Amino acid sequence: DVPHSDALLRELTAPQCEAVQHVDGPMLILAGPGSGKTRVVTHRIAYLLAQDIPDWQIAALTFTNKAADEMRLRLDKLAPGQKVWMGTFHRFCAQLLRRYASMVGLQENYSIYDTSDSKQAMKRAIEAAGVSTTHASPDQIANVISKAKNKLITPDVMEGQMLSPKETVAAKVYPVYQRQLLTANAVDFDDLLLHVANLLRHSPELRGELDQRFRYILVDEYQDTNLAQYAIVRALSIDHPNLSVTGDPDQSIYGWRGADLNNILDFEKDYPSVRTVRLEQNYRSTPNVLRVADQLIRHNRRRKQKNLFTDNDEGEPVILRWFENGYEEADSIADEIVAAISSGLARPSDFAIFCRMNSLTRSLEHALRGRGVPYQIVNGVEFYQRKEIKDVLAYLHLVNNPGHDVALTRVINTPTRGIGAKTVQRLQAFADSHNIPMLEAARRAEQIESLAKRSVTMVKKFVAIYDRIAARATAPLEDLMRCVVQESGYDKFLEKNSDEADDSSPLGNVDELISAAVDFDRRHPDDGSLEAFLEQVALVSDTDAFEENDQRVTLMTLHASKGLEFPRVFIVGVEDDLLPHKRSKEDDAQFEEERRLLFVGITRAKQWLQLSCCKRRMIRGDTRPVIASPFLNELPLEEMKRIESTVQRNYFDQEIDQSGGGDWDLPEIQINAEAQGEAQADVSFDFGANQDEDVFSSDDQARESSPAFDSVTAESAP
Ligand code: ATP
Ligand code: MG
Repeated sequence: DVPHSDALLRELTAPQCEAVQHVDGPMLILAGPGSGKTRVVTHRIAYLLAQDIPDWQIAALTFTNKAADEMRLRLDKLAPGQKVWMGTFHRFCAQLLRRYASMVGLQENYSIYDTSDSKQAMKRAIEAAGVSTTHASPDQIANVISKAKNKLITPDVMEGQMLSPKETVAAKVYPVYQRQLLTANAVDFDDLLLHVANLLRHSPELRGELDQRFRYILVDEYQDTNLAQYAIVRALSIDHPNLSVTGDPDQSIYGWRGADLNNILDFEKDYPSVRTVRLEQNYRSTPNVLRVADQLIRHNRRRKQKNLFTDNDEGEPVILRWFENGYEEADSIADEIVAAISSGLARPSDFAIFCRMNSLTRSLEHALRGRGVPYQIVNGVEFYQRKEIKDVLAYLHLVNNPGHDVALTRVINTPTRGIGAKTVQRLQAFADSHNIPMLEAARRAEQIESLAKRSVTMVKKFVAIYDRIAARATAPLEDLMRCVVQESGYDKFLEKNSDEADDSSPLGNVDELISAAVDFDRRHPDDGSLEAFLEQVALVSDTDAFEENDQRVTLMTLHASKGLEFPRVFIVGVEDDLLPHKRSKEDDAQFEEERRLLFVGITRAKQWLQLSCCKRRMIRGDTRPVIASPFLNELPLEEMKRIESTVQRNYFDQEIDQSGGGDWDLPEIQINAEAQGEAQADVSFDFGANQDEDVFSSDDQARESSPAFDSVTAESAP
């Protein structure tokens, strides 16, 4: 069921049409925000289908699952019933790897470790490698390894490089970590890309076959690809170089995770026959918003100047507003939203509030909640990071992959069964020395001499519980999950420890997880496997929980706002050391990335935009004076509407400071404690150098890494 080409092209401008009608050969669509890049991708897929190109020959790679879902929705309207492959790089690789797992030494039921699993695995590898962590923390080691993987550097290659002291330590851990992952039949997020890139590099037959299969590849947000991703699409576009990429170098904001701007800047060199299309008309924003964005981004030196124009109405001037402190900022924003909604001028879903760090959302949440404004925080990963959810999932992981040592370590004494840390260590040591999974070691507990008799009994008891659960492995997910909760004794454990009245209680969360299983069973009546469910969970990204049609205000980080648009946008905390982040200021490239981050935020706004900063702000319980972001001076202030704080009273006198806040502060502190407890439950590393640990707890590209790894370069790009 394909649409007629004419109908498709009617909704597009001339340059957009040109891009959509391009069929064979490489194409680069280089254009600013809101110019219809993503729209061109969907329309082009529909156009290809209209040219009788079979859907299975087309793959569209997106940056988030959310973006893929949205694309699928739009495409379904243009070409109902199509089965074009759409998803993130990580999902693409996860699926390829299922088929070719054996070629990299894995089994097809391999597990994907999320960020906190990887952290556990890393700790164990560091121990086994016997390196000292005095000069390189586990997080730093993890960062170095992650960075290496994104540059396709294997352990042996890394060993032969000129290395800094930190890298030298990491280079010793890297091979051990990889070996342990393989024994556990597991991969981390970086491995998904690394394994596939290596497969394509080392197996010309497979490369050729897949190149033939995925004849048309489209990549959106190409400016944020890293070397591994680059290598993958490159390898799939040699015999059939019908690769089209879409991007905006000014919106590259993932350098800290290894994204390489050169991938887009050098595209014309890589594919000399490329057709380059520029889109210059912005359909999203008012001229007022666009001028502010343009003035800002002009200050970046490493960029190509682009022209953007729009036929949209002039709109209202962009507002720049100062507040005394974060509470005043939050209250004012909430008041304005309430006023606009109650006067019928806007709906809650028209509003988005962006901030540099997740932690800033807490005062905003408080203010919105206090006024009864519905809101959503976009951070889909959080649910799956809750302790009880991870516990239940860990049982499932172990059922799916008995080699999943991280899962075993997690559940062997959860709920408590009298198996202590010492016992677990002994199991681990036995497993390590015999090169077997820990579950296997547990089965052979009586052979472990250092184990007390009582411990052996307990361990055996656990194995028996496990076996009862594993016997249900092929049951519908819902049944399996209920079986886990009962057999493990987790339900009784939670009942004892949960407050039933509270719907965010652990018990309530486990019920929600079971609902997710029911939903999964329903959606996948034929292909629903445990493995597929776990893969979906592992690849959840932080923008995935975002529900567009919901009547709610959206709160999110600037990073998560990429590709989206909202009628009315607030950007809070445009302050020095926050935006730009203080860790970016040593390095020009990182500083420019911060500027791009603000640029991305500004260009999400359709009709109305307010930037704000405070004179004082509470950060980690400390109230400090702050100064405005240097980026504000780069904006066309004369045409903006500037509003100084009207509050004369000084909220933060010395006394209040010491007590941690005034009376209106108390509930805030509670929220803080609660939210932090949650967020820190299982969340990942302190990600070292450049990024704030708040931005992502984990997502589908979810390992965060520091950019401080430039002395090591890729061995060779295909
Ligand atoms: P970003 O760089 O932020 O990802 P983009 O270039 O991908 O932006 P889109 O999201 O595709 O831009 O388009 C921005 C908005 O403009 C969307 O609402 C889209 O539907 C609309 N739009 C794009 N092209 C046209 C057109 N020719 N006619 C009408 N609306 C359009
Ligand atoms: Mg887009």
